[in-house]
Amino acid sequence: MAHHQILIVGGGAGGLTVASQLKRARPGLEIAILEPSADHYYQPGWTLVGGGVFTLEQTRRDEAALIPEGVRWIRAAAAGFDPVAGTVACTDGETLHYDVLVVATGIKLCWDRIKGLPEALGSGGVTSNYSKDLVDYTWKTIQGFTGGNAIFTFPDTPIKCAGAPQKIMYLADDVFKRSAAVAAATRVIFATATPGIFGIPAFAEPLRQVVARRGIEPRYLHTLKEVRAASKEAVFAVKDGDTVREEVLPYGMLHVTPPMAAPDVVATSPLAVDGPGGWVEVDKFTTQHVRHPNVFSLGDVSSLPNSKTAAAVRGQAPVLVANLLAHLDGQPLAARYDGYACCPLITGYGRVIMAEFNYEGQPVPSFPLDPTKERWSMWVVKKDVLPCLYWNRMLKGFDHERRFMPGVTP
Ligand code: FAD
Repeated sequence: MAHHQILIVGGGAGGLTVASQLKRARPGLEIAILEPSADHYYQPGWTLVGGGVFTLEQTRRDEAALIPEGVRWIRAAAAGFDPVAGTVACTDGETLHYDVLVVATGIKLCWDRIKGLPEALGSGGVTSNYSKDLVDYTWKTIQGFTGGNAIFTFPDTPIKCAGAPQKIMYLADDVFKRSAAVAAATRVIFATATPGIFGIPAFAEPLRQVVARRGIEPRYLHTLKEVRAASKEAVFAVKDGDTVREEVLPYGMLHVTPPMAAPDVVATSPLAVDGPGGWVEVDKFTTQHVRHPNVFSLGDVSSLPNSKTAAAVRGQAPVLVANLLAHLDGQPLAARYDGYACCPLITGYGRVIMAEFNYEGQPVPSFPLDPTKERWSMWVVKKDVLPCLYWNRMLKGFDHERRFMPGVTP
């Protein structure tokens, strides 16, 4: 049975960032990443692929090129966790033993929870920016749209990038309005399971104004339950006080954000929270598992109650790294994550509200500007600066956010 001092399960945004930061902090650490995929994608770029600004290939890199020097890449997936034995079973039949485990497997997209959706995706105007296989089809559908209902959905579970379901809607609306005939024949509908447009009040108000200015129809407490591809109808469960009624909306275009949960291998393991989602149950400030002190987690799969974004990973990683090193040294865990997340809310081509906030829902802007305003400068940040920061700083372990680690230097 192979043994690793630090085993990181998942070599995505979280796993790669933690591995790089650990290697920079202590080059002598022995680290392995368990990751099945040969490609890594910059998922925050997919909104712009669906909007025709980037190509999908611009958001892709070889995983091999991103594995930090001196870190071993095990090309397989985790098939089971036994935190009492300190082992991870792999899909290739191997069992790996660890001193410290970091779980960063990301989130599972539950397409099949919506009846008729898996068969409908990718044709007849049904698409989703949440799949790399469909982002090009999103752009094709937007360009070819000639009128009818263009419906953009948001499910009744936590999701990664809670802004993404509406960002693509604003880009699509801009394209529709380039033709007076298409604009006149189109109704854009935001059908969301949530009771409001966005969970953070400071940013919900400007978004309500954007929706009103554009003439978009928000439909709250609407959960997509079924797609009838043959008749091009979307079926919603609509909460109405204590009752739930069914509403059927015809569509010409349907952009679906699927329900999401932790991958089954995590949700069915002893690491999971007891309840919906199946996230890895960690302390919200230290990122350490609440029952297994040699297990840490970050990113979308963790139970950290922040907005699930790559930007949140940026805030979490240095905290996790500092606390993991403290754990190895037998020291108290001093670093605390404040819930930082960022969602660059694209409100049209050339316009972004840079929503940065913490656990308290308070804006924590990185720029000395009113963060609730739509700005062209923040569009440039979203389109040009953030991808650069991701590839060259964050994944390389340079991007330590010391404000999250009072008194601690990893
Ligand atoms: P991921 O980066 O998804 O990595 C998880 C890794 O785990 C993957 O490589 C996967 O192959 C691997 N894995 C899965 N199962 C196993 C297993 N059993 N064993 C081993 N490995 C496994 N974030 C922002 O900050 N800003 C944005 O504007 C933004 N927009 C977005 C728009 C879209 C359309 C999407 C889809 C996402 C967006 N995000 C955005 C969210 C962001 O991409 C994620 O929050 C971020 O990638 C989370 O990092 P992670 O490491 O938790 O998961």
